[in-house]
Amino acid sequence: MQAQPQSSALTYPHGSALRFTPAGLRVLGWRMGQLCAQRTQGPELTKILNRELGVNRKLDYYWKWAKAHGLEWTPAQRIGRPGHRVAPVELLPKDQQFCKFCEGVRAPVPYQLSGRNGTLFLCATRCCPECGAKLEVHEIQNKATGKVEARHWSHPFPMPPRKCLNPKCGVEFVPTNKKNPHQEGCSKRCTQIISVRRWEKNHPEKALDLQQRSSQNRQRKVKLAEDLAREVAELKAHIQPKRGPGRPAEPEHQKSYFRIGKQVETQIPKRLKGDKNAIVAARRLVSEKTRMPYDLIAQYHKTFRQTLSEGSGPRLAANSSV
Ligand SMILES: [Zn+2]
Ligand SMILES: [Zn+2]
Ligand SMILES: [Zn+2]
Repeated sequence: MQAQPQSSALTYPHGSALRFTPAGLRVLGWRMGQLCAQRTQGPELTKILNRELGVNRKLDYYWKWAKAHGLEWTPAQRIGRPGHRVAPVELLPKDQQFCKFCEGVRAPVPYQLSGRNGTLFLCATRCCPECGAKLEVHEIQNKATGKVEARHWSHPFPMPPRKCLNPKCGVEFVPTNKKNPHQEGCSKRCTQIISVRRWEKNHPEKALDLQQRSSQNRQRKVKLAEDLAREVAELKAHIQPKRGPGRPAEPEHQKSYFRIGKQVETQIPKRLKGDKNAIVAARRLVSEKTRMPYDLIAQYHKTFRQTLSEGSGPRLAANSSV
């Protein structure tokens, strides 16, 4: 159901939009006439009328209304597009109105870049406002219409050599990147140093603060390293020196085969040293005394006799007989 317009209301809802009531249209006509006569600029007029009438119309709506009712429309004054709305050079700050390289008057020249329009202020000899190089205009034509579609000013390449602005470098180099004709450093590293130095120059207090903090950090790190070295030294003092590989070798006379063999040997009477039965009896006796197996005692005794006869020979000879 549609809301009935009240006599004092300027608008009434129509779907999701607002329409003007007859009273609203009267106010709109009256205020449009006033604002256009005052030469109020389009965007400002749009804002005022939207606020006063409680609507949200675009600039285009008011522009069409003005045209339809024969009112004089005042466009926004901006630094403009190629061909029209060209900004006078007086718009520039005083110190930028003349070229700092050839002192000629700078005049606006149109340029287009990446689909955006703008105005560049150049002197008659086309000095780059930043570096003074003579700029060249590049025009790109639309193939179908033959009209200039894009126009931009660029530096002539190859550029003359320049010095790296990093005071510690100062190498002479030739900029090769067409997108960065004002390259200041010979390398990425130098460019970074230059920008950091510039930041430090522009923010002296922050830079000083940073410097102090970094020196504090350095001191803290040095102290940590010293503490660590001291702790390591203390720990080292507590650690026992490393021993050699394995147990130290026992002296020969302490080894089992020597002790057992000697015991067996003492059990054999002197005149029966070569007697097989006497040897076996002595081994049996020692085996019973030490509660070790007979075979082991026999092996020990055999090795003992071999060692005695050879001086210090192999500890256990496998195939030797008694
Ligand atoms: Zn110039
Ligand atoms: Zn330049
Ligand atoms: Zn450099």
